[in-house]
Amino acid sequence: MQPVPASEELFARAQRVIPGGVNSPVRAYRAVGGTPRFITSAKGAFVTDADGNELVDLVGSWGPMILGHAHPQVLDAVQATAARGTSFGAPTQAEVELAELIVERTPIEMVRLVNSGTEATMSVLRLARGITGRNKIVKFAGCYHGHVDSLLVAAGSGVATLGDAASRAVPAGPGVPDAVAADTLVAPYNDRAAVEKIFAEHGDEIACIITEASPGNMGVIEPGTENGEHFNAFLKRTAHAHGALFVSDEVMTGFRVTRSGQFGKDGVEPDLMTFGKVMGGGFPTAAFGGSAAHMLHLSPVGGVYQAGTLSGNPVASVAGATTLKLCTDDVYSHLDAMSAKLQQAVTTALQAFGVPHVINTANSMFSVFLGAESAVTNYEQAQTQSQEAFAAFFHSMLDQGIYLPPSGYECWFLSAAHDENVVGRVIDALPKAAAAARK
Ligand code: PLP
Repeated sequence: MQPVPASEELFARAQRVIPGGVNSPVRAYRAVGGTPRFITSAKGAFVTDADGNELVDLVGSWGPMILGHAHPQVLDAVQATAARGTSFGAPTQAEVELAELIVERTPIEMVRLVNSGTEATMSVLRLARGITGRNKIVKFAGCYHGHVDSLLVAAGSGVATLGDAASRAVPAGPGVPDAVAADTLVAPYNDRAAVEKIFAEHGDEIACIITEASPGNMGVIEPGTENGEHFNAFLKRTAHAHGALFVSDEVMTGFRVTRSGQFGKDGVEPDLMTFGKVMGGGFPTAAFGGSAAHMLHLSPVGGVYQAGTLSGNPVASVAGATTLKLCTDDVYSHLDAMSAKLQQAVTTALQAFGVPHVINTANSMFSVFLGAESAVTNYEQAQTQSQEAFAAFFHSMLDQGIYLPPSGYECWFLSAAHDENVVGRVIDALPKAAAAARK
């Protein structure tokens, strides 16, 4: 591993005042070892670390930076807005525009802006429970919806690599009351029989099914189609047969995999949806929405309470709105083409070194399950990947200037700034990393 003294010093300082030295666990490199890079600046497809290394960024702040870093038009809009004041706790035109853009791109009629994906899923559950008068929810093993108590049960993302016994001793980890976890019913992803069984046993107690629209937090898992029916269509049909709602979490996929998100691929209209990441343009904003009939259950019109001091923040809203406006059809075509090219190169390099692997893809986000020998369609199968092989691959790429997500349970994200040149740099680094993964 290349020495990074400036990052090491910052990491040591950070660990004295911030638990684990990070403000979100996956950043600590626990799954791959070594020192996390402290980032000082970013531009386009590159981040620069505290030691001055310029790295090709395939993390993209975990999805939001779809246009690349520090996009000039986004920066201009942010700076002009911030110069007029950064928060008023009162309605602004910026938030109306962002809400209109979201509604225009998706099947929902109304949207409420919040500050994080976690807040969006937490609020959407309250709304689903308020509408149905029921408490139980159904989620899928390996899906991550933020760190909401009831949604940490069998969660993916950073939770997937925590690995210490304490965190696994109870289904959702210490700190989540058993009574809360008991209302979360979990099925393996893509397993229709398991969903039907849960509904046969608890159908009249279930408020909603919540699913990642196309999972990316156990690595990318593709929703299956059986007898011509998409998994999301099956979930909606099953939920509705029992008076429950179908909630699609598009925090990761929304405005990334198509101009609307996974909805643009499967056409299944959810009752409620959540969004985040891309719609915030790199700022802390997120949203949940649905039909007017459902959304008007929210305060101040309806009785389901939901609020936020910084919700609809003007700077965040303008960053998100500018980003969405710049996400044209050409951007999505470019992202898909670059993603396909890179995936093909990864396979070629790994095959050349005899490294078994599976690549799952959702357009400009994809995952490489190193060591997996057969299809990966759920969380259990995702766990057949080799963490050791991934760590070796990851560090070889990093030493060659390529910044990958530091866990095999995450996805690689491309941006509009990843052009042929940048992708070429990544491709050039692959053979050495493939050789490292083979050992
Ligand atoms: N839902 C999904 C599908 C996510 O991928 C994430 C975060 O990665 C969240 C919700 C939580 O979002 P946040 O990290 O903004 O709280």
